[in-house]
Amino acid sequence: MLCGAYLLIINIKAVVKGEIGKLGWIDFKPGWYVYVGSAMGGLEARVKRHLSSKKRKHWHIDYLLGLGSKVRVEQVVIVTSTKKIECELSKLVAGLATFSVARFGSSDCKCGSHLYYFPNEQSIRGLLGAIKRAKPNVTIKEAQSVCLDLARNRQLASPT
Ligand SMILES: [Zn+2]
Repeated sequence: MLCGAYLLIINIKAVVKGEIGKLGWIDFKPGWYVYVGSAMGGLEARVKRHLSSKKRKHWHIDYLLGLGSKVRVEQVVIVTSTKKIECELSKLVAGLATFSVARFGSSDCKCGSHLYYFPNEQSIRGLLGAIKRAKPNVTIKEAQSVCLDLARNRQLASPT
């Protein structure tokens, strides 16, 4: 089982307003958002859960990803580790981001946020480069390919 942390690279195409659990209503301006999460007990299952549309809303990120077609996960960055590195990664992202969405995804830790804003694709590429330099065990996947795996698994799971 893969353990460690992951980043969801999310593109928001136009202003989206949504209620994010207990955080209340938030306006998300267009651009690129990076969400940092961890799954010490099964990284692949967690990432697949984020990309599937049918699920109960539990984390702040579930609410954001449920706001419709303007919100899309474009890439998934997986950093395997036996240690908890989520908050360390979050700080690294914070150092390069334009701003963060206060308290998003950080109810259980001391970080100010786990969701960060980047204005364009170029700034995202810069971030990915910095992560690769900081961490050796990094895999970057196109969200589309993860979704294809999902569809395939679902077909395999359904009775014929
Ligand atoms: Zn944290």
